[in-house]
Amino acid sequence: MRTAFRLILLLTVLVCLACLQSLHAAWVSGEEAIMGTRISVQLWHQEKDRGEAVVQAVMEEFRRLDRKLSPYIDSSELSQVNRLASLEPLGISEEFYRLIETSLEYSELTDGAFDITFASIGHRYDYRKGIRPTDSLIDRTLPLIDYRNIHLDKDKSTVFFEKKGVRIDLGGIAKGYAVDRGIELLQQQGIVHALISAGGDSRLLGDHRGRPWHIGVQAPRDKDRMAAMLPLVDSAISTSGDYERFFERDGVRYHHIISPKTGRSADTLQSVTIIGPNATRTDALSTSVFVLGVEKGMALINRLEDVDGVIIDGDGEMITSQGFAGDGP
Ligand code: ADP
Ligand code: MG
Repeated sequence: MRTAFRLILLLTVLVCLACLQSLHAAWVSGEEAIMGTRISVQLWHQEKDRGEAVVQAVMEEFRRLDRKLSPYIDSSELSQVNRLASLEPLGISEEFYRLIETSLEYSELTDGAFDITFASIGHRYDYRKGIRPTDSLIDRTLPLIDYRNIHLDKDKSTVFFEKKGVRIDLGGIAKGYAVDRGIELLQQQGIVHALISAGGDSRLLGDHRGRPWHIGVQAPRDKDRMAAMLPLVDSAISTSGDYERFFERDGVRYHHIISPKTGRSADTLQSVTIIGPNATRTDALSTSVFVLGVEKGMALINRLEDVDGVIIDGDGEMITSQGFAGDGP
């Protein structure tokens, strides 16, 4: 009898402790401007204070990657590579090596639509100031855009650019990669419900405690309207659009997604949204499909089993991949 009583007492204490702990469990969030965009983190943590520290750790990871990958920071590894890699093979960090290697894999997968050497001409655009390269400069420097100008040596961990003037920029994949790094950090901390987004690139861990997360696809020509809301669990989603960074001159929209074939802004679509298993993949593929256009882009999405997509074409019409067939997004 006494044992039973003790057992009940012990159980009551345990239940109360669990209740107390859950009282402190909460959604914790943070927002900061890093990598030229708005980084936002939301997570569910058993202890609010510790949750807040985790949000800060994610922000610090974004700052670390910005210092390493930014083309606007002279001391970044990317800037060093752009200054030195056409002189001789240059030793680079393992992380930077892997990012170039992954970028080259996407170049192969997309038939050259994704190409980090777009920057050989891309760096001459300044969208804020409305500056663009002249047609003759584009024509003369176009051969510099070709991912096959990049040579990696795995054993020595070096990169070499075959031609002088070749430059790279990881802007089409870096934010997705940073989101994935942030999610990894959360997983290491045992977090199971979270959202990290970096501008147009987001990844979700688990659900929103009992219901899916809802991510909006912005209407490209109306900042206040969503073209679609997608219920998502445990996945990544990226949108590339011609409305993020652009200027117009003589009726032409000059924006930040460059077709490697022409050295000019890819001009057939308004936006591409890709849903997939991780944000590195969805980021690289949203930029790629934007370059490829409706037909080749949708064919690629439908060929890849782990991704789905929504394209908004030049007329504002929405086209969805086979994964959405039936009920639409
Ligand atoms: P955002 O930076 O708005 O998230 P995207 O994911 O669509 O946009 O990527 C656009 C960025 O990708 C550009 O700002 C540029 O840094 C880079 N980029 C542009 N064209 C290409 C290309 N053809 N291949 C790879 N990266 C590109
Ligand atoms: Mg992208």
